[in-house]
Amino acid sequence: MEESDVTLAINGGIGFGSKLNAKQLAAITKYMNENDEIELTIFQQLYITVPESKVAMLKEEFEQVGLACYPVGNYVKSLRTCNFCKGAEEEGMPVAIELNKILAGRPVPFTLRPAYTGCPIGCGEPLIHDIGVMKVRSGYNLYIGGKAKGTDARVGALILEEATPEELYGAVDQIIEIYSAQGKRREPFAKFVDRYGFENIYHAIAGSSPQ
Ligand code: SF4
Repeated sequence: MEESDVTLAINGGIGFGSKLNAKQLAAITKYMNENDEIELTIFQQLYITVPESKVAMLKEEFEQVGLACYPVGNYVKSLRTCNFCKGAEEEGMPVAIELNKILAGRPVPFTLRPAYTGCPIGCGEPLIHDIGVMKVRSGYNLYIGGKAKGTDARVGALILEEATPEELYGAVDQIIEIYSAQGKRREPFAKFVDRYGFENIYHAIAGSSPQ
């Protein structure tokens, strides 16, 4: 019986820009044949297709050189970020890393794209993502329901303003829980926000915020 293939999404994790070093590139190409291809997605991820029996070994090798692996399909994507041009601490890189841990790879009704940006200039375009976070002064604004594609593209609505990291983590976790439980199969997040109601999500989050 022919072995099935699995597609993996990989990138260099959250850092100063979406970069890969030579060691990481070598690890990615090590098991590729001459005509195999890598897909560069618009979402700061590379897609590679590998035989199912090699997935565990490859993940381990990739992680050893600092590559992050994520599932492909109806999951939360890894966090798209800006380049943190003003410095890791000032622009909240530790918060972005923690957010990515909370969000990336969680199963959801339809692929969900989160984005983070370290200041209001917004290079990571958080307002047109399903879930967008923007560091504003000492807090974090959280937007939901943005949509970059289609003739009905729109910006997300502000659901938390100048939140603390803990409030932000709790809110995004709760939002994913609600969407996972209440979203219809293959219902995009922006549509879900409209159907379920922004107000209902807002009140659910307000009710679960740390005191
Ligand atoms: S959003 Fe702000 S911190 Fe991030 S890359 Fe753009 S200007 Fe720099």
